[in-house]
Amino acid sequence: MLQSTLFGKTQKQPPRDEVSLNARLLTQAGFIDKVTAGAYTYLPLGLAVLNNVKQIVREEMAAIGGQELLMPALQPKELWEKTGRWTDPGPEVMFQFEGRSDRQYGLGWTHEEVITPLVKKFVSSYKDLPLYLYQIQDKFRNEPRAKSGLLRGIEFSMKDLYSFHRDEQDLEAYYQRALQAYLRIFQRCGLEAIVTEASGGSFSKYSHEFQVLTPYGEDVIYHCVQCGYAQNREVTQLMTGAACPKCDGSIAEGKAIEVGNIFQLKTKYAVPFKLEYVDADGTSKPVMMGCYGIGPSRVMGTAVEVHHDDRGIIWPESIAPFRAHLLQLGSSSAVAKRALLVYHKLSSRGISTLFDDRPDVTAGVKFADADLIGIPYRLVVSEKTKANVELKPRRGQTSTLVNQTKLLAALKGKGGELGKQRNVS
Ligand code: ATP
Ligand code: MG
Repeated sequence: MLQSTLFGKTQKQPPRDEVSLNARLLTQAGFIDKVTAGAYTYLPLGLAVLNNVKQIVREEMAAIGGQELLMPALQPKELWEKTGRWTDPGPEVMFQFEGRSDRQYGLGWTHEEVITPLVKKFVSSYKDLPLYLYQIQDKFRNEPRAKSGLLRGIEFSMKDLYSFHRDEQDLEAYYQRALQAYLRIFQRCGLEAIVTEASGGSFSKYSHEFQVLTPYGEDVIYHCVQCGYAQNREVTQLMTGAACPKCDGSIAEGKAIEVGNIFQLKTKYAVPFKLEYVDADGTSKPVMMGCYGIGPSRVMGTAVEVHHDDRGIIWPESIAPFRAHLLQLGSSSAVAKRALLVYHKLSSRGISTLFDDRPDVTAGVKFADADLIGIPYRLVVSEKTKANVELKPRRGQTSTLVNQTKLLAALKGKGGELGKQRNVS
């Protein structure tokens, strides 16, 4: 992708109306644009990152048997009255409004009220179970504190998986598989998530949250520094310095961001919707359910909160918008020709590259922009580099002059989404 044609530009200063670090950096670097508090446009760079996160989620969902579908965000009041959630939590969480002929609708903030009656249409026997269905869709929540950028949207991306089982044992076994899949997702996205015991809110009695420690997190967790056992402050009896209930380590307090949450719903939604199956012995039983949520947009914001320095973002390679950022310094025809050659070579090898071909932009500005945008590998072609390329990892301090063979060897690996779509202009 040629940077001269890329939609969205870096800004000299972070936006004045953003307090959160992720929104300040992502806006300044040209990844997102705020429409209103808690709702953002993803510009091409930002959408590339979001799509990379979603791709990792899809791969791990497929690995545990998840089938993807897509439900409507717009939902009729009647479904939500069946579970009582039209009024409790009601408009506290849900955007509700009137359509034609006095019909009442709400925007989905979770999808049990749609998926449970859907599955009821297709499941009747124990032979139809188990079933694992998920979607990746925008959710809407009437959040009271939408000032944390991508961490807390009123519209945000969520992957929600729902599982359906014959009995509690089968639910428990799948719940453990989903828990492991979640850990793999966060690890692949460059995040270290701590499995944290928590209350189940309006979903279930208890749940497991996946918490990433950062000084800017809105949650507080108590976690064992030795074995990693953790509880959310809202449930916990634990205190700083206490002995860990699972090992002889000690408990520390930390601020954290909840990036995922899984619940054993059991029969909570099967009962109001009469989702039942006929078991092998001929008796009718309620279906056991689990639900499993991840916010890809919050994961993206969290990655920025965790991976940055005072010059900008440092994307984990797996979710970076491009793998390489090639800077052409100087506009002599010899330099321009060599830079273009490198760009074509990388593109033809499937290494997604943002090519800073902008004329009339100083070297200082190009370097500063590259640090701000945070693509994993910075490459420079200038008068000085001759037939070589200067290679510097965004995470490292030193640059090395390499020939093209070494360059390709160093950059081998997966490219970003955007680069894959639009490799060469
Ligand atoms: P929180 O406690 O932070 O408000 P929650 O517990 O209400 O979140 P869940 O219902 O568990 O959220 O949603 C599943 C996942 O969706 C969360 O773990 C998080 O990754 C994401 N998520 C929830 N609310 C938001 C939001 N307002 N903006 C962005 N992502 C969100
Ligand atoms: Mg939660």
